[in-house]
Amino acid sequence: MRFLFVLCVLYGSSFFAAALDREAFTITKYDLEIQLDPQQQRLGARGRITLRNDSGSPQKIAALQISSSLNWRSIRVDGKPVQFVSQPYLSDLDHTGALSEAIVTLPAEIKPKDSVELEIGYEGVVPLDTTRLTRIGVPDEIAKHSSWDQISPSFTAVRGAGYVAWYPITTEAADFSEGNSLFEVADRWKAREAESEFRVNLRSSQENSESTLVVLCDGHGGGSAEPGRSQAVNTDCAWTPLGAVTPTFAMAEYVVASKAPLKVFSLAGHEAGAATYSSALDPAMKFVSGWFGQPTTPVAIADFADPHSPPFESGTLLMASMAAEDSKLAGINLVHELVHSAVPSSRPWVYEGLAHFAEAMYRQEQGGREAALDLLGLHRAAFLDSEKEVSSALQKSVAQKSVGEKSVEPRNPGQPLIATFDEIYYRSKAAYVWWMLHDMIGDEALKQAIGKYRAADDNDKDPKYVQKLIESAAQRDLGWFFDDWVYKDRGLPDFHVQSAHPWKTEKGTQMITVTLENLGNAGAEVPFTILFEGGEITKRLEVRAKSTATTRVELLGTPSQIVVNDGSVPESDLTNNEFKVPAP
Ligand SMILES: [Zn+2]
Repeated sequence: MRFLFVLCVLYGSSFFAAALDREAFTITKYDLEIQLDPQQQRLGARGRITLRNDSGSPQKIAALQISSSLNWRSIRVDGKPVQFVSQPYLSDLDHTGALSEAIVTLPAEIKPKDSVELEIGYEGVVPLDTTRLTRIGVPDEIAKHSSWDQISPSFTAVRGAGYVAWYPITTEAADFSEGNSLFEVADRWKAREAESEFRVNLRSSQENSESTLVVLCDGHGGGSAEPGRSQAVNTDCAWTPLGAVTPTFAMAEYVVASKAPLKVFSLAGHEAGAATYSSALDPAMKFVSGWFGQPTTPVAIADFADPHSPPFESGTLLMASMAAEDSKLAGINLVHELVHSAVPSSRPWVYEGLAHFAEAMYRQEQGGREAALDLLGLHRAAFLDSEKEVSSALQKSVAQKSVGEKSVEPRNPGQPLIATFDEIYYRSKAAYVWWMLHDMIGDEALKQAIGKYRAADDNDKDPKYVQKLIESAAQRDLGWFFDDWVYKDRGLPDFHVQSAHPWKTEKGTQMITVTLENLGNAGAEVPFTILFEGGEITKRLEVRAKSTATTRVELLGTPSQIVVNDGSVPESDLTNNEFKVPAP
Protein backbone atom coordinates (compact mmCIF):
# COMPACT_ATOMS: atom_id res chain seq x y z
CA MET A 1 0.00 0.00 0.00
CA ARG A 2 2.76 2.36 0.99
CA PHE A 3 4.61 1.48 -2.19
CA LEU A 4 1.59 2.43 -4.23
CA PHE A 5 1.32 5.76 -2.43
CA VAL A 6 4.94 6.62 -3.19
CA LEU A 7 4.39 5.65 -6.79
CA CYS A 8 1.33 7.88 -7.00
CA VAL A 9 3.20 10.87 -5.64
CA LEU A 10 6.06 10.31 -8.03
CA TYR A 11 3.70 9.78 -10.89
CA GLY A 12 1.71 12.86 -9.98
CA SER A 13 4.65 15.19 -9.74
CA SER A 14 6.51 14.00 -12.76
CA PHE A 15 3.64 13.25 -15.07
CA PHE A 16 3.67 16.46 -17.06
CA ALA A 17 7.42 16.77 -17.09
CA ALA A 18 7.87 13.28 -18.46
CA ALA A 19 4.96 13.06 -20.86
CA LEU A 20 4.61 16.56 -22.15
CA ASP A 21 6.25 17.83 -25.29
CA ARG A 22 5.49 21.54 -24.92
CA GLU A 23 6.73 22.38 -28.40
CA ALA A 24 4.90 19.57 -30.22
CA PHE A 25 2.16 21.91 -31.40
CA THR A 26 2.62 25.02 -33.50
CA ILE A 27 -0.19 27.57 -33.46
CA THR A 28 -0.71 28.14 -37.18
CA LYS A 29 -3.69 30.46 -36.94
CA TYR A 30 -4.92 33.04 -34.45
CA ASP A 31 -8.28 34.75 -34.72
CA LEU A 32 -8.80 36.77 -31.54
CA GLU A 33 -11.15 39.38 -30.15
CA ILE A 34 -9.62 41.41 -27.37
CA GLN A 35 -11.68 43.66 -25.12
CA LEU A 36 -9.61 46.26 -23.28
CA ASP A 37 -10.70 47.94 -20.08
CA PRO A 38 -7.94 50.41 -19.21
CA GLN A 39 -9.64 51.64 -16.01
CA GLN A 40 -9.38 48.14 -14.58
CA GLN A 41 -6.14 47.37 -16.47
CA ARG A 42 -8.06 44.39 -17.81
CA LEU A 43 -8.01 42.39 -20.97
CA GLY A 44 -10.63 39.84 -21.97
CA ALA A 45 -10.01 37.57 -24.91
CA ARG A 46 -11.95 35.07 -26.91
CA GLY A 47 -11.33 33.53 -30.26
CA ARG A 48 -10.07 30.55 -32.18
CA ILE A 49 -6.62 29.12 -32.60
CA THR A 50 -5.45 26.26 -34.80
CA LEU A 51 -2.86 23.86 -33.43
CA ARG A 52 -0.78 21.73 -35.78
CA ASN A 53 1.13 18.74 -34.49
CA ASP A 54 4.69 19.32 -35.70
CA SER A 55 6.16 16.49 -33.64
CA GLY A 56 6.86 13.02 -34.94
CA SER A 57 4.29 11.28 -32.78
CA PRO A 58 0.53 11.52 -32.11
CA GLN A 59 -0.40 13.99 -29.34
CA LYS A 60 -3.37 13.92 -26.99
CA ILE A 61 -2.16 16.66 -24.62
CA ALA A 62 -1.45 20.28 -25.56
CA ALA A 63 0.15 22.92 -23.35
CA LEU A 64 -1.09 26.46 -23.97
CA GLN A 65 0.50 29.38 -22.19
CA ILE A 66 -0.51 32.99 -21.53
CA SER A 67 0.87 35.63 -19.17
CA SER A 68 0.66 34.66 -15.50
CA SER A 69 -1.49 37.73 -14.83
CA LEU A 70 -4.15 36.26 -17.15
CA ASN A 71 -6.38 33.26 -16.43
CA TRP A 72 -7.85 30.60 -18.64
CA ARG A 73 -11.66 30.66 -18.68
CA SER A 74 -12.71 28.18 -21.33
CA ILE A 75 -11.31 25.88 -23.94
CA ARG A 76 -13.62 24.08 -26.37
CA VAL A 77 -13.26 21.81 -29.35
CA ASP A 78 -16.18 21.45 -31.78
CA GLY A 79 -18.35 23.48 -29.42
CA LYS A 80 -17.75 21.13 -26.49
CA PRO A 81 -15.71 22.08 -23.43
CA VAL A 82 -12.51 20.05 -23.08
CA GLN A 83 -10.74 19.12 -19.89
CA PHE A 84 -7.82 21.26 -18.88
CA VAL A 85 -5.71 21.85 -15.81
CA SER A 86 -4.27 25.30 -15.25
CA GLN A 87 -0.91 25.69 -13.57
CA PRO A 88 1.75 28.37 -13.20
CA TYR A 89 4.82 27.79 -15.36
CA LEU A 90 8.01 29.75 -14.68
CA SER A 91 9.35 31.33 -17.84
CA ASP A 92 10.97 34.64 -18.73
CA LEU A 93 9.11 34.82 -22.04
CA ASP A 94 6.64 37.00 -20.11
CA HIS A 95 7.38 40.19 -18.17
CA THR A 96 5.91 38.63 -15.03
CA GLY A 97 8.51 35.87 -15.25
CA ALA A 98 5.78 33.24 -15.40
CA LEU A 99 3.01 31.90 -17.60
CA SER A 100 -0.47 30.53 -16.91
CA GLU A 101 -0.33 27.16 -18.56
CA ALA A 102 -3.39 25.17 -19.55
CA ILE A 103 -2.67 21.47 -19.93
CA VAL A 104 -5.40 20.48 -22.35
CA THR A 105 -6.63 16.95 -22.89
CA LEU A 106 -7.80 16.87 -26.50
CA PRO A 107 -10.88 14.80 -27.40
CA ALA A 108 -8.80 12.67 -29.74
CA GLU A 109 -5.16 12.07 -30.57
CA ILE A 110 -3.81 14.45 -33.20
CA LYS A 111 -1.56 12.71 -35.70
CA PRO A 112 1.68 14.31 -36.86
CA LYS A 113 0.95 17.14 -39.36
CA ASP A 114 -2.76 17.11 -38.45
CA SER A 115 -4.44 20.14 -36.91
CA VAL A 116 -7.15 20.87 -34.38
CA GLU A 117 -9.09 24.10 -33.84
CA LEU A 118 -9.73 25.34 -30.31
CA GLU A 119 -12.16 27.98 -29.12
CA ILE A 120 -10.57 29.77 -26.25
CA GLY A 121 -11.38 32.36 -23.62
CA TYR A 122 -9.08 34.03 -21.09
CA GLU A 123 -8.92 37.24 -19.11
CA GLY A 124 -7.01 39.14 -16.49
CA VAL A 125 -4.92 42.23 -15.97
CA VAL A 126 -1.72 43.54 -17.58
CA PRO A 127 -0.10 45.98 -15.15
CA LEU A 128 3.48 47.22 -15.49
CA ASP A 129 5.66 44.36 -14.20
CA THR A 130 9.43 44.25 -13.98
CA THR A 131 9.76 40.90 -12.18
CA ARG A 132 11.81 39.07 -14.78
CA LEU A 133 14.39 41.89 -14.81
CA THR A 134 14.49 42.78 -11.12
CA ARG A 135 14.95 39.15 -10.09
CA ILE A 136 18.20 39.01 -12.03
CA GLY A 137 19.34 42.19 -10.31
CA VAL A 138 18.28 45.00 -12.68
CA PRO A 139 17.32 48.01 -10.51
CA ASP A 140 13.58 48.68 -10.65
CA GLU A 141 14.17 52.30 -11.76
CA ILE A 142 15.93 51.06 -14.91
CA ALA A 143 13.77 47.99 -15.45
CA LYS A 144 10.51 49.93 -15.58
CA HIS A 145 11.70 51.99 -18.56
CA SER A 146 12.53 49.00 -20.74
CA SER A 147 9.75 46.78 -19.40
CA TRP A 148 7.07 49.34 -20.34
CA ASP A 149 4.23 47.00 -21.28
CA GLN A 150 0.97 47.73 -19.47
CA ILE A 151 -2.72 48.41 -19.72
CA SER A 152 -3.51 51.54 -17.73
CA PRO A 153 -6.04 54.40 -17.76
CA SER A 154 -3.50 56.93 -19.07
CA PHE A 155 -1.41 54.86 -21.44
CA THR A 156 -1.61 51.35 -22.81
CA ALA A 157 1.03 49.57 -24.87
CA VAL A 158 1.63 45.84 -24.87
CA ARG A 159 4.12 43.85 -26.91
CA GLY A 160 3.59 40.17 -27.65
CA ALA A 161 5.35 36.98 -26.59
CA GLY A 162 8.87 37.53 -25.41
CA TYR A 163 7.46 40.52 -23.47
CA VAL A 164 3.82 39.77 -22.63
CA ALA A 165 2.07 36.58 -23.66
CA TRP A 166 -1.26 38.31 -24.35
CA TYR A 167 -2.05 35.53 -26.83
CA PRO A 168 -1.38 31.81 -26.34
CA ILE A 169 2.03 30.31 -27.04
CA THR A 170 3.47 26.80 -26.82
CA THR A 171 7.03 26.88 -25.50
CA GLU A 172 9.55 25.33 -23.17
CA ALA A 173 10.56 27.48 -20.20
CA ALA A 174 13.05 30.26 -20.94
CA ASP A 175 15.37 31.69 -18.34
CA PHE A 176 16.99 35.14 -18.45
CA SER A 177 19.74 34.13 -16.06
CA GLU A 178 20.83 31.11 -18.08
CA GLY A 179 23.00 32.58 -20.78
CA ASN A 180 21.14 32.59 -24.04
CA SER A 181 18.26 30.35 -22.99
CA LEU A 182 15.65 33.11 -23.22
CA PHE A 183 16.70 34.15 -26.69
CA GLU A 184 17.06 30.57 -27.88
CA VAL A 185 13.53 29.68 -26.79
CA ALA A 186 12.10 32.96 -28.11
CA ASP A 187 13.86 32.66 -31.49
CA ARG A 188 12.84 29.01 -31.84
CA TRP A 189 9.25 29.95 -31.14
CA LYS A 190 9.36 32.79 -33.67
CA ALA A 191 10.81 30.49 -36.32
CA ARG A 192 8.04 27.94 -35.69
CA GLU A 193 5.30 30.55 -36.00
CA ALA A 194 6.79 32.57 -38.87
CA GLU A 195 4.31 31.14 -41.38
CA SER A 196 1.32 31.51 -39.05
CA GLU A 197 -1.65 33.78 -39.63
CA PHE A 198 -2.50 36.22 -36.88
CA ARG A 199 -5.69 38.26 -36.81
CA VAL A 200 -6.93 40.33 -33.93
CA ASN A 201 -9.79 42.72 -33.33
CA LEU A 202 -9.08 45.11 -30.45
CA ARG A 203 -11.88 47.05 -28.86
CA SER A 204 -12.55 49.32 -25.96
CA SER A 205 -15.12 51.90 -25.02
CA GLN A 206 -14.87 55.42 -23.78
CA GLU A 207 -17.28 57.37 -21.66
CA ASN A 208 -17.84 61.01 -22.43
CA SER A 209 -14.18 61.79 -22.42
CA GLU A 210 -12.93 65.21 -23.50
CA SER A 211 -10.23 63.71 -25.68
CA THR A 212 -9.83 61.22 -28.46
CA LEU A 213 -9.09 57.65 -27.53
CA VAL A 214 -7.14 55.77 -30.20
CA VAL A 215 -6.37 52.07 -30.35
CA LEU A 216 -3.80 50.81 -32.84
CA CYS A 217 -1.82 47.71 -33.60
CA ASP A 218 -0.03 48.17 -36.91
CA GLY A 219 0.89 50.64 -39.61
CA HIS A 220 -2.69 50.91 -40.81
CA GLY A 221 -3.35 53.15 -37.86
CA GLY A 222 -6.13 52.71 -35.43
CA GLY A 223 -9.72 53.18 -34.62
CA SER A 224 -10.64 56.24 -32.64
CA ALA A 225 -13.59 57.53 -30.64
CA GLU A 226 -14.61 61.17 -30.84
CA PRO A 227 -14.30 63.37 -27.77
CA GLY A 228 -17.33 64.03 -25.65
CA ARG A 229 -19.26 60.93 -26.66
CA SER A 230 -19.72 57.53 -25.15
CA GLN A 231 -18.81 55.06 -27.79
CA ALA A 232 -16.85 52.01 -28.73
CA VAL A 233 -13.48 52.22 -30.38
CA ASN A 234 -12.04 49.28 -32.27
CA THR A 235 -9.48 48.26 -34.84
CA ASP A 236 -8.48 45.15 -36.80
CA CYS A 237 -4.95 43.98 -37.36
CA ALA A 238 -3.61 41.08 -39.37
CA TRP A 239 -0.14 39.70 -39.88
CA THR A 240 -0.23 37.00 -42.51
CA PRO A 241 2.28 35.55 -42.31
CA LEU A 242 3.54 36.60 -38.93
CA GLY A 243 7.21 36.51 -39.99
CA ALA A 244 9.45 38.02 -37.34
CA VAL A 245 6.79 40.49 -36.17
CA THR A 246 5.87 40.67 -32.49
CA PRO A 247 2.15 41.55 -32.41
CA THR A 248 1.84 44.74 -30.39
CA PHE A 249 -1.01 47.11 -29.55
CA ALA A 250 -1.30 50.55 -28.01
CA MET A 251 -4.15 52.70 -26.78
CA ALA A 252 -3.99 56.29 -25.58
CA GLU A 253 -5.41 59.75 -26.11
CA TYR A 254 -3.35 60.26 -29.21
CA VAL A 255 -3.29 63.25 -31.54
CA VAL A 256 -3.22 61.84 -35.06
CA ALA A 257 -1.41 63.57 -37.91
CA SER A 258 -1.70 61.76 -41.16
CA LYS A 259 -0.12 62.23 -44.55
CA ALA A 260 -0.04 59.11 -46.69
CA PRO A 261 1.58 56.71 -46.18
CA LEU A 262 2.46 57.95 -42.67
CA LYS A 263 0.38 58.32 -39.52
CA VAL A 264 1.94 59.96 -36.50
CA PHE A 265 0.30 59.27 -33.12
CA SER A 266 1.57 61.73 -30.52
CA LEU A 267 0.69 62.55 -26.93
CA ALA A 268 -0.22 65.97 -25.53
CA GLY A 269 2.87 68.03 -24.76
CA HIS A 270 4.95 66.32 -27.45
CA GLU A 271 3.83 68.54 -30.34
CA ALA A 272 7.32 69.72 -31.25
CA GLY A 273 8.71 66.17 -31.32
CA ALA A 274 5.78 65.01 -33.43
CA ALA A 275 6.33 67.90 -35.84
CA THR A 276 9.90 66.73 -36.56
CA TYR A 277 8.37 63.57 -38.04
CA SER A 278 5.98 65.51 -40.23
CA SER A 279 8.74 67.75 -41.55
CA ALA A 280 11.14 64.82 -42.08
CA LEU A 281 8.61 62.97 -44.23
CA ASP A 282 9.21 64.59 -47.63
CA PRO A 283 12.99 64.15 -47.79
CA ALA A 284 12.68 60.62 -46.39
CA MET A 285 10.03 59.75 -48.99
CA LYS A 286 12.21 61.11 -51.78
CA PHE A 287 15.20 59.10 -50.65
CA VAL A 288 13.29 55.85 -50.17
CA SER A 289 11.39 56.17 -53.47
CA GLY A 290 14.64 56.70 -55.33
CA TRP A 291 16.27 53.67 -53.82
CA PHE A 292 13.60 51.15 -52.91
CA GLY A 293 10.51 52.10 -54.89
CA GLN A 294 7.39 53.98 -53.87
CA PRO A 295 6.23 53.30 -50.29
CA THR A 296 2.61 52.31 -50.61
CA THR A 297 1.34 50.46 -47.55
CA PRO A 298 0.71 52.62 -44.46
CA VAL A 299 3.27 53.03 -41.68
CA ALA A 300 2.69 54.41 -38.19
CA ILE A 301 4.87 55.95 -35.54
CA ALA A 302 3.39 56.11 -32.05
CA ASP A 303 4.52 58.01 -28.99
CA PHE A 304 5.39 56.70 -25.51
CA ALA A 305 4.13 58.18 -22.25
CA ASP A 306 7.53 57.43 -20.64
CA PRO A 307 10.21 59.42 -22.52
CA HIS A 308 12.84 56.89 -21.38
CA SER A 309 11.18 53.92 -23.06
CA PRO A 310 13.50 52.52 -25.73
CA PRO A 311 11.93 52.33 -29.21
CA PHE A 312 10.24 49.16 -30.37
CA GLU A 313 9.15 48.02 -33.79
CA SER A 314 6.28 45.72 -34.73
CA GLY A 315 6.08 45.38 -38.52
CA THR A 316 5.14 48.79 -39.88
CA LEU A 317 4.38 50.25 -36.44
CA LEU A 318 7.24 51.96 -34.64
CA MET A 319 6.84 52.94 -31.00
CA ALA A 320 9.25 55.77 -30.20
CA SER A 321 9.13 58.61 -27.72
CA MET A 322 8.41 62.04 -29.21
CA ALA A 323 9.28 63.88 -26.01
CA ALA A 324 12.49 65.22 -27.53
CA GLU A 325 12.97 67.02 -30.85
CA ASP A 326 15.54 65.05 -32.78
CA SER A 327 15.15 65.62 -36.49
CA LYS A 328 18.10 63.40 -37.42
CA LEU A 329 16.59 60.48 -35.53
CA ALA A 330 13.12 61.21 -36.92
CA GLY A 331 14.52 61.09 -40.47
CA ILE A 332 16.25 57.78 -39.88
CA ASN A 333 13.21 56.24 -38.18
CA LEU A 334 11.02 57.34 -41.08
CA VAL A 335 13.40 55.96 -43.69
CA HIS A 336 13.40 52.63 -41.87
CA GLU A 337 9.60 52.34 -41.77
CA LEU A 338 9.15 53.61 -45.34
CA VAL A 339 11.53 50.92 -46.61
CA HIS A 340 9.26 48.34 -44.96
CA SER A 341 6.36 49.92 -46.81
CA ALA A 342 8.22 49.86 -50.14
CA VAL A 343 9.82 46.40 -49.87
CA PRO A 344 7.64 43.91 -48.02
CA SER A 345 9.35 40.57 -47.40
CA SER A 346 8.78 37.58 -45.18
CA ARG A 347 12.54 37.01 -44.99
CA PRO A 348 13.70 38.91 -41.90
CA TRP A 349 17.25 39.48 -43.23
CA VAL A 350 15.78 41.15 -46.31
CA TYR A 351 12.97 43.01 -44.53
CA GLU A 352 14.99 44.38 -41.61
CA GLY A 353 18.44 44.20 -43.20
CA LEU A 354 17.40 46.50 -46.06
CA ALA A 355 15.72 48.94 -43.64
CA HIS A 356 18.85 49.22 -41.49
CA PHE A 357 21.06 49.45 -44.59
CA ALA A 358 18.81 52.29 -45.79
CA GLU A 359 19.34 54.16 -42.52
CA ALA A 360 23.09 54.08 -43.16
CA MET A 361 22.69 55.14 -46.80
CA TYR A 362 20.54 58.05 -45.64
CA ARG A 363 23.21 59.05 -43.14
CA GLN A 364 25.77 58.89 -45.93
CA GLU A 365 23.66 61.21 -48.06
CA GLN A 366 23.54 63.74 -45.24
CA GLY A 367 26.88 63.35 -43.49
CA GLY A 368 29.20 61.33 -45.73
CA ARG A 369 30.55 57.79 -45.63
CA GLU A 370 32.16 58.15 -42.22
CA ALA A 371 28.86 59.15 -40.61
CA ALA A 372 27.24 56.12 -42.25
CA LEU A 373 29.98 53.78 -41.02
CA ASP A 374 29.60 55.24 -37.51
CA LEU A 375 25.91 54.36 -37.61
CA LEU A 376 26.69 50.85 -38.85
CA GLY A 377 29.38 50.59 -36.17
CA LEU A 378 26.64 50.71 -33.52
CA HIS A 379 25.45 47.41 -34.95
CA ARG A 380 28.85 45.73 -34.96
CA ALA A 381 29.18 45.31 -31.21
CA ALA A 382 25.84 43.49 -31.21
CA PHE A 383 26.99 40.50 -33.21
CA LEU A 384 30.76 40.66 -32.74
CA ASP A 385 30.77 38.43 -29.67
CA SER A 386 28.62 35.69 -31.13
CA GLU A 387 30.60 35.79 -34.35
CA LYS A 388 33.88 35.53 -32.43
CA GLU A 389 32.49 32.35 -30.86
CA VAL A 390 31.74 31.06 -34.35
CA SER A 391 35.28 31.81 -35.46
CA SER A 392 36.89 30.07 -32.52
CA ALA A 393 34.58 27.06 -32.85
CA LEU A 394 35.55 26.76 -36.53
CA GLN A 395 39.21 27.30 -35.69
CA LYS A 396 39.02 24.56 -33.08
CA SER A 397 37.50 22.06 -35.47
CA VAL A 398 40.24 22.77 -38.01
CA ALA A 399 42.90 22.36 -35.33
CA GLN A 400 41.39 19.06 -34.18
CA LYS A 401 41.36 17.77 -37.72
CA SER A 402 44.92 18.84 -38.37
CA VAL A 403 46.27 17.02 -35.31
CA GLY A 404 44.33 13.94 -36.34
CA GLU A 405 41.77 14.02 -33.55
CA LYS A 406 38.46 12.43 -34.22
CA SER A 407 36.43 15.15 -35.85
CA VAL A 408 33.93 16.45 -33.35
CA GLU A 409 31.43 18.78 -34.93
CA PRO A 410 31.67 21.87 -32.73
CA ARG A 411 28.51 23.49 -31.47
CA ASN A 412 28.19 26.33 -33.92
CA PRO A 413 26.85 29.28 -31.96
CA GLY A 414 26.20 31.26 -35.12
CA GLN A 415 23.22 31.38 -37.40
CA PRO A 416 22.87 31.49 -41.18
CA LEU A 417 21.35 34.84 -42.08
CA ILE A 418 18.85 33.31 -44.46
CA ALA A 419 17.11 31.30 -41.74
CA THR A 420 17.68 33.28 -38.56
CA PHE A 421 15.04 34.73 -36.27
CA ASP A 422 17.65 36.28 -34.01
CA GLU A 423 17.44 40.07 -34.19
CA ILE A 424 21.18 40.52 -33.78
CA TYR A 425 21.65 38.69 -37.05
CA TYR A 426 18.70 39.74 -39.16
CA ARG A 427 19.10 43.39 -38.19
CA SER A 428 22.74 44.13 -37.40
CA LYS A 429 24.64 41.56 -39.44
CA ALA A 430 22.21 41.89 -42.34
CA ALA A 431 22.71 45.67 -42.42
CA TYR A 432 26.44 45.08 -42.98
CA VAL A 433 25.82 42.41 -45.61
CA TRP A 434 23.68 44.80 -47.66
CA TRP A 435 26.26 47.53 -47.16
CA MET A 436 29.06 45.25 -48.41
CA LEU A 437 26.96 44.18 -51.40
CA HIS A 438 26.37 47.84 -52.20
CA ASP A 439 30.10 48.62 -51.95
CA MET A 440 30.83 45.70 -54.29
CA ILE A 441 28.24 46.31 -57.01
CA GLY A 442 27.37 50.01 -56.72
CA ASP A 443 24.16 52.06 -56.63
CA GLU A 444 22.67 51.22 -59.99
CA ALA A 445 23.02 47.44 -59.86
CA LEU A 446 21.69 47.26 -56.30
CA LYS A 447 18.74 49.52 -57.10
CA GLN A 448 17.95 47.34 -60.09
CA ALA A 449 18.05 44.15 -57.99
CA ILE A 450 15.85 45.64 -55.24
CA GLY A 451 13.46 46.97 -57.87
CA LYS A 452 12.96 43.45 -59.19
CA TYR A 453 12.52 41.86 -55.76
CA ARG A 454 9.00 40.61 -55.23
CA ALA A 455 8.24 38.94 -51.89
CA ALA A 456 4.91 37.67 -53.16
CA ASP A 457 6.72 35.88 -55.95
CA ASP A 458 7.16 32.20 -55.43
CA ASN A 459 10.70 33.01 -56.49
CA ASP A 460 11.48 34.03 -52.94
CA LYS A 461 10.88 30.44 -51.88
CA ASP A 462 14.14 29.72 -53.69
CA PRO A 463 16.87 30.41 -51.11
CA LYS A 464 19.11 31.73 -53.91
CA TYR A 465 16.51 34.21 -55.19
CA VAL A 466 18.26 37.32 -53.84
CA GLN A 467 21.68 36.10 -55.00
CA LYS A 468 20.36 35.56 -58.53
CA LEU A 469 18.75 39.02 -58.66
CA ILE A 470 21.97 40.68 -57.54
CA GLU A 471 24.23 38.60 -59.75
CA SER A 472 22.18 39.33 -62.84
CA ALA A 473 22.09 43.07 -62.07
CA ALA A 474 25.82 43.21 -61.29
CA GLN A 475 27.02 40.68 -63.88
CA ARG A 476 29.31 39.22 -61.24
CA ASP A 477 29.62 35.84 -59.50
CA LEU A 478 28.80 36.33 -55.84
CA GLY A 479 28.11 32.74 -54.83
CA TRP A 480 31.16 32.72 -52.56
CA PHE A 481 29.94 35.83 -50.73
CA PHE A 482 26.42 34.49 -50.20
CA ASP A 483 27.90 31.18 -49.02
CA ASP A 484 30.07 32.86 -46.42
CA TRP A 485 27.60 35.50 -45.22
CA VAL A 486 24.03 34.44 -45.98
CA TYR A 487 23.62 30.68 -46.40
CA LYS A 488 26.09 29.75 -43.68
CA ASP A 489 27.53 31.46 -40.65
CA ARG A 490 31.27 31.32 -41.04
CA GLY A 491 32.06 34.00 -38.50
CA LEU A 492 33.93 37.10 -39.61
CA PRO A 493 37.01 37.79 -41.72
CA ASP A 494 40.27 39.03 -40.20
CA PHE A 495 42.44 41.04 -42.60
CA HIS A 496 46.02 42.21 -42.42
CA VAL A 497 48.72 43.25 -44.84
CA GLN A 498 50.92 40.24 -45.38
CA SER A 499 53.48 42.13 -47.42
CA ALA A 500 53.97 45.36 -49.36
CA HIS A 501 56.77 46.11 -51.81
CA PRO A 502 57.22 49.60 -53.21
CA TRP A 503 59.02 49.71 -56.59
CA LYS A 504 59.49 51.94 -59.61
CA THR A 505 58.79 51.32 -63.28
CA GLU A 506 61.41 51.95 -65.94
CA LYS A 507 59.80 55.33 -66.54
CA GLY A 508 60.12 56.13 -62.84
CA THR A 509 56.47 55.73 -61.82
CA GLN A 510 56.02 54.81 -58.12
CA MET A 511 54.25 51.48 -57.71
CA ILE A 512 53.43 49.23 -54.78
CA THR A 513 52.57 45.54 -54.73
CA VAL A 514 50.28 44.74 -51.82
CA THR A 515 49.33 41.30 -50.54
CA LEU A 516 46.40 41.10 -48.13
CA GLU A 517 45.68 38.02 -46.07
CA ASN A 518 42.32 37.01 -44.63
CA LEU A 519 42.80 34.81 -41.54
CA GLY A 520 39.05 34.37 -41.04
CA ASN A 521 36.57 31.86 -42.46
CA ALA A 522 34.42 34.39 -44.32
CA GLY A 523 35.64 36.12 -47.48
CA ALA A 524 34.95 39.73 -48.40
CA GLU A 525 35.92 42.52 -50.71
CA VAL A 526 37.76 44.91 -48.45
CA PRO A 527 38.90 48.50 -49.01
CA PHE A 528 42.48 49.44 -48.14
CA THR A 529 44.07 52.87 -48.11
CA ILE A 530 47.69 53.58 -49.01
CA LEU A 531 49.12 56.71 -47.47
CA PHE A 532 51.90 58.27 -49.52
CA GLU A 533 53.84 61.50 -49.59
CA GLY A 534 51.30 64.15 -50.41
CA GLY A 535 48.13 62.08 -50.39
CA GLU A 536 46.31 58.76 -50.08
CA ILE A 537 44.54 56.34 -52.36
CA THR A 538 41.86 53.75 -51.56
CA LYS A 539 41.44 50.52 -53.52
CA ARG A 540 39.37 47.40 -53.00
CA LEU A 541 40.46 43.78 -53.06
CA GLU A 542 38.49 40.54 -52.89
CA VAL A 543 40.13 38.26 -50.33
CA ARG A 544 38.48 34.88 -49.85
CA ALA A 545 38.43 33.00 -46.55
CA LYS A 546 41.83 31.72 -45.39
CA SER A 547 43.46 33.19 -48.49
CA THR A 548 45.66 35.93 -49.76
CA ALA A 549 45.19 38.29 -52.68
CA THR A 550 47.73 40.54 -54.37
CA THR A 551 47.39 43.71 -56.38
CA ARG A 552 49.55 46.53 -57.77
CA VAL A 553 48.74 50.16 -57.22
CA GLU A 554 50.21 53.20 -58.95
CA LEU A 555 51.07 56.04 -56.55
CA LEU A 556 51.95 59.72 -56.83
CA GLY A 557 54.56 59.58 -54.06
CA THR A 558 56.54 57.33 -51.73
CA PRO A 559 54.19 55.13 -49.66
CA SER A 560 54.43 55.16 -45.87
CA GLN A 561 51.46 53.24 -44.49
CA ILE A 562 48.60 50.93 -45.47
CA VAL A 563 45.34 50.72 -43.55
CA VAL A 564 43.05 47.79 -44.33
CA ASN A 565 39.28 48.17 -43.90
CA ASP A 566 37.54 51.47 -43.21
CA GLY A 567 35.02 49.71 -40.98
CA SER A 568 32.66 48.76 -43.80
CA VAL A 569 33.50 45.05 -43.46
CA PRO A 570 32.84 43.60 -40.00
CA GLU A 571 36.02 41.95 -38.77
CA SER A 572 36.87 39.85 -35.72
CA ASP A 573 40.16 41.66 -35.06
CA LEU A 574 40.77 45.30 -35.94
CA THR A 575 44.09 45.60 -34.10
CA ASN A 576 46.22 44.20 -36.97
CA ASN A 577 44.95 46.44 -39.77
CA GLU A 578 47.71 49.03 -39.99
CA PHE A 579 50.96 48.32 -41.78
CA LYS A 580 54.12 50.41 -42.03
CA VAL A 581 55.55 50.19 -45.53
CA PRO A 582 59.28 49.30 -45.45
CA ALA A 583 61.63 51.66 -47.21
CA PRO A 584 62.58 50.33 -50.67
ZN1 LIG B 1 12.20 47.36 -39.16
